[in-house]
Amino acid sequence: MVSVELKAVSKNWGGTAAVDQVTFTVGEGKLVALLGPSGCGKSTTLRLIAGLEDASSGVIAIGGKDVTQAPPSGRGIAMVFQNYALFPHLSVAENILFGLKVRKLGRAERDERLARAAEILGLGALLDRKPSQLSGGQQQRVALGRAIVARAPVCLMDEPLSNLDAQLRVEMRREIRELQQRLGMTMVYVTHDQVEAMTMADQVVLMRNGRIEQDAPPDELYENPASIFVARFVGTPPMNVVPLTALLAGGGDIAPPPGLDPARLSVGIRPEVSELAENGIAAEVVAVEYLGADTLIEARIDGHPFIVRRPGKVRALAGDKVYIKLSQSLLHWFDQSTERRVVPG
Ligand code: ADP
Ligand code: MG
Repeated sequence: MVSVELKAVSKNWGGTAAVDQVTFTVGEGKLVALLGPSGCGKSTTLRLIAGLEDASSGVIAIGGKDVTQAPPSGRGIAMVFQNYALFPHLSVAENILFGLKVRKLGRAERDERLARAAEILGLGALLDRKPSQLSGGQQQRVALGRAIVARAPVCLMDEPLSNLDAQLRVEMRREIRELQQRLGMTMVYVTHDQVEAMTMADQVVLMRNGRIEQDAPPDELYENPASIFVARFVGTPPMNVVPLTALLAGGGDIAPPPGLDPARLSVGIRPEVSELAENGIAAEVVAVEYLGADTLIEARIDGHPFIVRRPGKVRALAGDKVYIKLSQSLLHWFDQSTERRVVPG
């Protein structure tokens, strides 16, 4: 198993940095998710690791070896893209083996690898079909098959599931994670879907505007977000973030952390640990969404949106005056101007 390391890697297009001083490590046999909104630099980062783009500056190492100047074929990586990139006129078997033929592997070795990949992916009965005769999930498996037969120690995936429907995505993300662990692959997995990142990854690198906003395991990202951006990107519905002054104006009994200017602070709290009570912070209900297992009560506190999520059915109507109770120990504190966390969790 090998590690992947990026040290202060940047990529400029013209004058603007698509990837800006990015530093992170993917441990041996680990799955790191590169997460972030569209255009934040995820695909560019992946292509830099693959060697499909040249870094403007910085160092990329794979298995401890500097590959910054190495061609893609010299990096020991396999790559799976969103659009599968299957050849329509080739059979499933030929598609899976395509990269290997190019590399002039012996026939026996090829057959063995194909049989093993087909077995792992449950494609044994489909090897003679053409891609057009497969479902979306099966096509995705063929693309995975390519990565498996390559026996590359590092696998890079760029939004590999975004063409699949919701149910299939859930199944495939389990399959990919299971495969990655079973084969001991080191994987970088690009996604804009926070649920995908949270459920699959050992470590999540959350990007924004070409920079890393936070690099942490999923639970830490959720429990201890480093910034307002992270707090609101991870979790649905997103964390409530409201100026402290608004909560105090609403009648909240909240003590700001010692030594910090209350006028500069924003308070974060998750909808699922916010409560409705007989008294507390005055709020007005704007909308109520009953989801079956729980209810989302969308309210306003002093004009600021605030969502409370309670289990089961909550009887409330738009226009109702309610009170919201927040537990001091569950609050996250952010600086309004830097948007960074100011008190460690
Ligand atoms: P993501 O995968 O997170 O959606 P990308 O890495 O594809 O983001 O793109 C990051 C930024 O770099 C975007 O602003 C995009 O427009 C820009 N970009 C990507 N590829 C090129 C290119 N070949 N030439 C110029 N700009 C590019
Ligand atoms: Mg992309």
